[in-house]
Amino acid sequence: MPEEYKEPAPYRKGEVNPFESMMVRFDKACELYKLDKGLYNYLAAPVKQVIVSIPVTMDDGSLQVFEGFRVIHDNILGPSKGGIRFSPDVDIDEVKALASWMTWKCAIANIPFGGAKGAVKCDPSKLSPRELEMITRRYTVNLLEVFGPDSDIPAPDMNTDEQIMAWIMDTYSMHKKETVTGVVTGKPIIIGGSKGRREATGRGVMIATMAALKTLEIDPTSTTCVVQGFGNVGSVSAQLLNEKGVKIIAISDVTGGYYDKNGIDVNKAIEYVSKNKVLKGGNFGTSITNEELLELECDILVPAAKEDQISAHNADRIKAKLIVEGANGPISADADDIIAGKGIRVIPDILANSGGVIVSYFEWVQDRIGYFWDEDDINNRLNRMMTEAFDVVYNSSIKYNTTLRLGAYIHAIDKVSKVLKLRGIYG
Ligand code: NAD
Repeated sequence: MPEEYKEPAPYRKGEVNPFESMMVRFDKACELYKLDKGLYNYLAAPVKQVIVSIPVTMDDGSLQVFEGFRVIHDNILGPSKGGIRFSPDVDIDEVKALASWMTWKCAIANIPFGGAKGAVKCDPSKLSPRELEMITRRYTVNLLEVFGPDSDIPAPDMNTDEQIMAWIMDTYSMHKKETVTGVVTGKPIIIGGSKGRREATGRGVMIATMAALKTLEIDPTSTTCVVQGFGNVGSVSAQLLNEKGVKIIAISDVTGGYYDKNGIDVNKAIEYVSKNKVLKGGNFGTSITNEELLELECDILVPAAKEDQISAHNADRIKAKLIVEGANGPISADADDIIAGKGIRVIPDILANSGGVIVSYFEWVQDRIGYFWDEDDINNRLNRMMTEAFDVVYNSSIKYNTTLRLGAYIHAIDKVSKVLKLRGIYG
């Protein structure tokens, strides 16, 4: 890395973690792209960081004060966009890093948004619905000057759902004295949400996988696939890949996994999980651990559970030919070279799981025009945008003779820095 990139980015912290992993890749991409030092410094730091206190009268009458964050990493391409997570151990550094992830994701998806992220430090499992609502509404009031359909648009993330988005929309609207559905995405369909949003991330994983198989000249019907995580992203990815003729030979969730070389009945597993919440007890094949699942012989591996599942400790045992990152940060930076050295292709998270933010963009557009598209319309548009995003990332990786991951970062950095230069620095 050239001397000029050696300054630590402002939000690097401690041990290797997904956020550290992200900065390692960002630094490598800046080096390959030869980004100007001034622009590097600009893009490494968020444009706005807000910390708010959220006082709430709890059900037992006591007063508790929660800490809330909203970080706007960048709003060069348009209003900033990013989810809000409720988590007991979240801190500002984590939010800063996640916000910058959103910048790169939106740039690659070619949607007119910058990147942001928000959080409230709380444990939702210990809160009543009323307490959760009070936290959400007070957090929103404290950020009235930040949020807005033309400035900063939140969405669901870890431990937040469409009900919480509905409360944010309502609180914001009450203060503006008009209903402003476009202030937040991931809302229930009945109040301005979009059809196809629930399946969007898994559908995007399927589309990106199909695009990669086409480039590699591999027939999907001759491939086998292993999926880790059977929640929103994992189950929809498995179902839609299966519909394309891909044989799903293993699935797992937090309770463990199943392997069947003849193929797992994915729809049966989805039905089972909808009733029982977890795969455990479903008997979908031979029981295996999550560790064993990741190391299975297969063509496609979709880690769709959580971060850091593949790191230097198990990377050399991975046998898949293609890894599609449904989750955010499932491969840590220390595994990148080992995976690449084995000739394994990786469709990186900032491309592979961008279907969610793309359909969030569609939701925002529909709210603003007040006309709602049918599901075919949504899916066709998603298909076109994801395929285009795959193509630009693929071409960038060829141009810079690097991996799809660094190709993706370079494309995003190229786009944001070009727009920044055109707009100029005001002041
Ligand atoms: P989810 O809560 O619906 O599902 C998570 C799944 O992972 C569950 O089946 C859970 O049992 C399993 N899991 C948890 N810990 C595990 C472990 N240690 N080993 C194996 N399985 C484990 O969550 P989701 O919405 O599907 O999100 C999954 C990942 O995708 C996360 O990294 C998330 O940030 C990312 N993502 C989600 C979306 C979206 O639209 N939902 C968009 C982009 C990225």
